[in-house]
Amino acid sequence: MIPYDNPHFDNHEQIVFCNDPNTGLKAIIAIHDTRLGPSLGGCRMYPYASFDQALNDVLRLSKGMTYKSAITGLNFGGGKSVIIADPRKHTSEALFRIFGRFVNGLNGRYITAEDVGTDLQAMEWVRIETKHVVGIPAYLEGSGDPSPVTAHGTFVGIKAALKKTFGNDDLAGRKVSVQGVGHVGYFLCKELHENGAKLYVSDIDKDALARVVNEFNAKVVGLDDIYGLDVDVFAPCALGAIINDTTIPQLKCSIVAGAANNPLADEPKHAQALHDKGILYAPDYVINAGGLINVATEFFHAASDIAAVKTERIYDSLLNIFDLSAEESVSPLFAANKIAEKRIADINFTKNIFTRHTKNRRG
Ligand code: NAD
Repeated sequence: MIPYDNPHFDNHEQIVFCNDPNTGLKAIIAIHDTRLGPSLGGCRMYPYASFDQALNDVLRLSKGMTYKSAITGLNFGGGKSVIIADPRKHTSEALFRIFGRFVNGLNGRYITAEDVGTDLQAMEWVRIETKHVVGIPAYLEGSGDPSPVTAHGTFVGIKAALKKTFGNDDLAGRKVSVQGVGHVGYFLCKELHENGAKLYVSDIDKDALARVVNEFNAKVVGLDDIYGLDVDVFAPCALGAIINDTTIPQLKCSIVAGAANNPLADEPKHAQALHDKGILYAPDYVINAGGLINVATEFFHAASDIAAVKTERIYDSLLNIFDLSAEESVSPLFAANKIAEKRIADINFTKNIFTRHTKNRRG
């Protein structure tokens, strides 16, 4: 299927297909929208079952980045990349350096970072070939792993959702289920535990589970049992599309608020279904923006405490969205989209801001 006909195409500005027979690199870089600034978004490495699955994923993820930057008040556009390979088998310096050359060829229209399946080491290899990468190690003047900041933003967002639902944001005694206890899920569990929440967790990785059981007294539940738990908050922190026609009828939680990108299989339909069921949904791109905020401070060489201050603002941002949702009787996702789209539409220039950003970048 040619990308123009793809249901997730959504007027993407540019889609780059990368191929290197020597390393076996097969990647797609998607640039959704650069009206606010150069596109920024992580590089996901995943053994997609088909090319179309990879294309669908990268198109949805890059669009999400456009909305994430817009609603967070950042001047970046939306972009994302996927490498079609298994990170446990195919991660190598050669592969990531070739990928870095493809990123470099875009001259700053796309800035990459880590995502699921990639890590600091991978970004360090990318940095050898291009300056258009963020989330690199501190010794290279980078801000390091963004996951703890993403987790803190998610924690703050869960508190905002509790406030809207129960009138107070106290976590003591609240039951929270966390799907996926990897980079973000681990740090989220830590903050929830430290604030008195009772944790229920699922993961396919037994070591990751053992860590949160030992450190935070979490209770392990089955991969499919996580949906039907009688909890206050369900926090998806693994992969996307897990809120769907099959899982929504099982949900007994009051709130869905987690770090996973694109947790809704069909965004408008499943956002509305949660709304109709009386479950408060914290839109993914609002609640998980902490990591983007963190790498943005790296990009602008800003002090890291600015990231902390901006991440705290996720609380008020979500309360505004929940209020608009209630006022207009629309889902919180619809309300968030409205705010993000208005910000982009209000920007009537495109070229100057892009020039300014690329000049600002370290050499
Ligand atoms: P990660 O790969 O470190 O963690 C994901 C975890 O989910 C892993 O432990 C994995 O084993 C587990 N998992 C996979 N399939 C599962 C299943 N079916 N059921 C339960 N667990 C399963 O990734 P991460 O960096 O923690 O990111 C998690 C999510 O948050 C992703 O959707 C990512 O796009 C999103 N996100 C991450 C960041 C960040 O800063 N890392 C920022 C924004 C959004």
